[in-house]
Amino acid sequence: MNLTLDEIQNFKGKYPKQIWSLFFSEMWERFCFYGMRGMLVFFMISQLKFDDEKANLQYGATQAFVYAFTFIGGLFADKILGFRKSLFWGGLLMIIGSLILAVDPHEYFFLGISFTVVGTGFFKPNISSMVGQLYKPNDSRADAGFSLFYAGINLGALLGGYLCIAIGKGELFGDMISQNVRWNVAFGLAAIVMVISLINFVFTQKSLGSIGLQPLEVLAEGRSGKMPKWKEYGTYILSLIFIPLIMKMVSVPEYTDYFMWIVGPLTLIYLFYEMSKVTESERKKLWAALIFILFSIVFWGIYEQSGGSLSIFAAKNLNKDLLGLDPNGVNNSAGAFFIIFLAPLIGLLWIWLIKKKIEPNTIIKFGLGFIFLGLGYYTLFATRLFADLQGITSLNFFTLALLIITLGELCLSPIGLSIMTKLSTKNLQGMMMGLWFLASAYGQYVAGIIGAGLAKADKNSTNYDALITYTSGYKQLGLYAVVAGVVLILISPFVKKLMQEVR
Ligand code: GLN
Repeated sequence: MNLTLDEIQNFKGKYPKQIWSLFFSEMWERFCFYGMRGMLVFFMISQLKFDDEKANLQYGATQAFVYAFTFIGGLFADKILGFRKSLFWGGLLMIIGSLILAVDPHEYFFLGISFTVVGTGFFKPNISSMVGQLYKPNDSRADAGFSLFYAGINLGALLGGYLCIAIGKGELFGDMISQNVRWNVAFGLAAIVMVISLINFVFTQKSLGSIGLQPLEVLAEGRSGKMPKWKEYGTYILSLIFIPLIMKMVSVPEYTDYFMWIVGPLTLIYLFYEMSKVTESERKKLWAALIFILFSIVFWGIYEQSGGSLSIFAAKNLNKDLLGLDPNGVNNSAGAFFIIFLAPLIGLLWIWLIKKKIEPNTIIKFGLGFIFLGLGYYTLFATRLFADLQGITSLNFFTLALLIITLGELCLSPIGLSIMTKLSTKNLQGMMMGLWFLASAYGQYVAGIIGAGLAKADKNSTNYDALITYTSGYKQLGLYAVVAGVVLILISPFVKKLMQEVR
């Protein structure tokens, strides 16, 4: 089944069939990733005996590093490994990381985490870039494909996020797994699903034609030759050298601050260097991509309250009026749950709008993303209208807010992946996708700072005061989101010019 790129990209119907294989590999990878992420804070507090603040800071640091490494993973894919080898190497590192944690999570905690950080950096951006290559640059069906792929991401996130910690805590299979090995089994599960992800990818490769193969080495005078093996092995060794470095950096929270201040400017300088080597038209597109990336930092900065302040709000200020469900459980999983159903539907909506010739372009979709995000945060603000005197308010209404925020995510996040692949020059695809995720790292970072500010204001206050503090903060964030959406729509003629024929 040796397909040419044209045969792959000229598919009939709504989706290329290869998207399903990438869907499943990414689903299992996200299971591993979110499974582990979901255990971190709880494990650090209950097992490693860290206090809450330290555990949260350390959690924030791992998140920042994970997404920062996507830039490196994407860059090395473009220059040396190609998407497939990068994905494989990343998957392998994730398996090793999970296995280390499965063997002795208490002793080797940060070592295991660091393997996972680097591994994710090599896996995550590159599988998304491969989805993009299933489409011709101007195929308007790509957004629908990325929406479907996004459903896979969230299916994995939901399953992993739920199962791993439930096993670790003993809430699931508690009578089958003896208490002293529950965490080992939970981390072991993350390793197993990652193995499934890679095995699935081995079969996928056969149907991918030339997509993701190793690039040729660029030689002098525009000639090119086979990539020398030493460069490939050098990349593997270099990424291993990073591991002890990350262990050190993650363990001291101030280092994360330095890291974040340094990495952003450095990557921008590198991007500008690459931009100086491309044609005028390509450069304009890269500028447009950068504008989307910068806006996405604002989006994630507001959106990512979910892991921080919203989880405190859920614990303190919500009742159980939604089917008796636990408010924190709802806060953690409602987004992914909604996406699994809504993402494919919204994808079909985009395709339907194309047929009617009224599909909004990417800028409008991003703008809508911000408007929904803003409305969602205003809805969070409005939960105070239903509160009793103890400051307890409605989980139902809170969940409605999460639904609106999720609609915003679906207008922005999969569309962002899609537009990165369309606006990037051919040999900068991995790096630009990495930059897209690096923006998430900054978003998380900003979110942490905002969340800490809210938590500080709420210290030693009554439940009712906490409700007022948090909801006022959410109203403010809602306003920022709406303003960002409006600004985006206002500058859309300018961005459109930069994007040229890309929509
Ligand atoms: N939740 C999505 C994922 O895991 C988006 C992550 C992000 O860009 N911050 O892929």
